[in-house]
Order: sequence, then structure tokens, then C-alpha cells
Amino acid sequence: MMRLCRTIAETGDLQGCCLVPTMGALHAGHGVLIDEAKKYGDKVVVTIFVNPKQFGPTEDYEHYPRSLETDLEYCDQLGVTAVFAPSVDEMYPSGFATRVSVAGAEETMEGKVRPGHFTGVATVVARIFGIFRPAASCFGWKDAQQLFVIRRMTEDLALRVRIVPVETVREPDGLALSSRNVRLSAEERALSPELYRALRKGKDALREGARPDEIITRTRRHLKMSGLDEDYVEISGDRLCAAVRMASVRLIDNISLT
Ligand code: AMP
Repeated sequence: MMRLCRTIAETGDLQGCCLVPTMGALHAGHGVLIDEAKKYGDKVVVTIFVNPKQFGPTEDYEHYPRSLETDLEYCDQLGVTAVFAPSVDEMYPSGFATRVSVAGAEETMEGKVRPGHFTGVATVVARIFGIFRPAASCFGWKDAQQLFVIRRMTEDLALRVRIVPVETVREPDGLALSSRNVRLSAEERALSPELYRALRKGKDALREGARPDEIITRTRRHLKMSGLDEDYVEISGDRLCAAVRMASVRLIDNISLT
């Protein structure tokens, strides 16, 4: 029987598990993280917490999709040991004062567009790691910069958690699965696969011998031709990353260049 824990006090026997931290509204992308987690231990814990600290004042914290009942059923079907779904007060009790900030994270890509976002992410993940002392924790390449930040923090603080990256799960037309995709209008949904196509164009350019700036130019050109409103296109590590703005949501995606 899968357990639901609402408080830290209930999680004592789950230490050393393999974790899958999420904000809920689970989809098949989260499902692949859960399947991967099973390879790293017999206890798999999914955390579901819409973390107010990682939302900016004008962002969608209040309206972020929430579906705990169906999320619990999904986790149960996948054989998850326990779901940890704490309240905001449980995660940030009065007096909570610590912030975990990874230098440089706020200077590029999502960090630049969303000030404070990665400090919120690193702070909550550090606390979750403290609660579970997991052997391993899975994160999606979908949020590549988040993965870089978590890796940096885990290494810098010597947290002894194995960080397991998992490749992005996509719709058949290429759109990366995301909890926020439910908000796309029919028109936006039809246009959205062009983001991944633009990244593929960039990767094609690499195969033809293009240098980094040409790869970025090729990607930008496809976004523009498709009528997508670019937020950024950047190469970070071995990933070509891009974000676009639509009326109802921002879409982010990236592709490995190796
Ligand atoms: P979220 O609930 O959106 O905060 O995501 C929780 C975890 O699932 C993060 O590590 C994400 O990178 C990962 N994730 C989200 N979407 C996908 C996807 N389409 N494929 C693989 N992993 C994903």
C-alpha cells in the first residue's frame, strides 16, 4: 500500500530512499522519473509541493495546476512507496530563515528571466534532501538549468546524494510534456512543436559543422519564421536551450548537442 505523508514526522523510515521531487499535476514525464528511481533503491518517494519560494510575484503560484487525488492514484499505479505532500507551513514553519543560493544561476537563461527562482528551487531541494537523506534523486533534463543548479549545490554542500538526470519525455509531435501545457490554447498548442523543431535545426547546423553562434542563429531563425516570441536561445554545457513566450505560458526546452 502506498503511503501519503503530510508531515516530516511521518517520514522517518523513508531515509535513504530514491526521491522524485515534483510540483504535482503529474504526467508521463514524471512517470519516467519514477521508473528510473526504482533502479536506485526499493523505496521510491515522490514529493509533491508547489513551492511558493520559486515563483516570482507576477508568476502563477496561485493558478499552478494542482491535482493531488489523481497524482496519488498515478503514483500508486507506478508502485511508489510513499508520496510526501506537505503544507507550506510544514516546509516553511515560522522562523524559517535559510536561503540556498548558487552563484551565477541568476545570470543566465531561466535565472535571468526569473529572479530568485533558482534560490527558491535550491532552498526547497536542500530541505527535502535534509528530510529524506536520499541515496539518489531524479531530475529531468527538461529543466536543464535546474539540474545544473542542483548538481552544483549537492556537490558544494557535500550532500552525498546521487543526482540522476532523465531525458525529456515528449508528445509525438515533439512538444515536451509539462504540467503547464494544459493551459495552451488550441492555436498555441498547434504552434508549440516549433520550439523543439527550432532546437533540431540548431543541432542539424552542428552536424554540418556550424560553430556555436551559427547554431544559435539557425535556432533563432526557425523560431522567428514560425512566429514564436523568443525569450532566449543559449548553449549551456552540451545543451542547446531555448524559451519562448506565448500568451498563456512560457515554454522552455533543450536538446543535447552530443
Ligand atoms: P515539475 O513538477 O514540473 O517541477 O517537475 C518535476 C521533475 O520532473 C523535474 O525534475 C522536471 O525536470 C521533471 N520533468 C518535467 N517535465 C518532464 C518531461 N517532459 N520529461 C522528463 N522529465 C520532466
